[in-house]
Amino acid sequence: MFSVRRLANLRVFVLAGLALGVCSVCPEVGAPKEQARKPAEVGPMFTVLFDNIPHQDGYRTSWGYSCLIRGLEETILFDTGGDGRILLDNMERAGVDPKEIGIIVLSHFHGDHTGGLHALLPRCEGVTVYLLRSFPEAFKNEVRSMASLVVEVSGSISLLDEVKTTGALGFEIPEQSLVVEQEDGLVVVTGCAHPGLRGIVEKAREITAPKPVFLMGGFHLRDLSKSEVTDLVNDLESLGVKAVAPSHCTGSPQRRVIKQMLGDRFLESGAGRVIAMEEMRGALE
Ligand SMILES: [Zn+2]
Ligand SMILES: [Zn+2]
Repeated sequence: MFSVRRLANLRVFVLAGLALGVCSVCPEVGAPKEQARKPAEVGPMFTVLFDNIPHQDGYRTSWGYSCLIRGLEETILFDTGGDGRILLDNMERAGVDPKEIGIIVLSHFHGDHTGGLHALLPRCEGVTVYLLRSFPEAFKNEVRSMASLVVEVSGSISLLDEVKTTGALGFEIPEQSLVVEQEDGLVVVTGCAHPGLRGIVEKAREITAPKPVFLMGGFHLRDLSKSEVTDLVNDLESLGVKAVAPSHCTGSPQRRVIKQMLGDRFLESGAGRVIAMEEMRGALE
């Protein structure tokens, strides 16, 4: 199945072919070579680039969330944190060149997830931004003026072969989460999880094969009591969630409850945390 990005690339490719007067469907006839693809030998690697929770020395913290996913066909940045300077500093600390980012996904229209975008976009090359159709027009137009391509998401779509968005969930604060599908499990990355974790995980399982789930990102549980968190974790486990790495807006007491319940299937997270698929697999077993 073609992802929207592939279709968009194909469109650019066809237009380029027409402009050059060459056959755009025969790669050997003067058409631009497809960019070298990075092999996903070791599986994807998730790096938390922006978080209010500290984890790794040398990384700056501030309210917000951003997670970089390497090791797929393209490098994906999920959310951009609340401050461009801090995002760029942490990227430099992590050895991330903005030019390696092929895809930026914005989970929802809150400043602590979109705030770093303006500083980042001019440093990117050929980046596609996936945002929600419900974002304000003025913001979308601004992003269009800086990004190579802007894709407006409403329902669930594929970004890459192994990567889907849940599409916009929730009504009050529409939000999309990212689903990375591997042979032996799903990694679901949430921004603030405003639509609720149960609905997000249900949707992730609906758009993929049923597999054990690793859940990471902001869980937004700060207003939940201990018994509510306990009920939620039980529900999530019955939905296939095996392991988690909550951070950002989850809430400290709530994180402690989850940690007590899941033990070594709770992975600490925060700014600078790198979680390789291998480590996730260990927790998913
Ligand atoms: Zn947030
Ligand atoms: Zn939010």
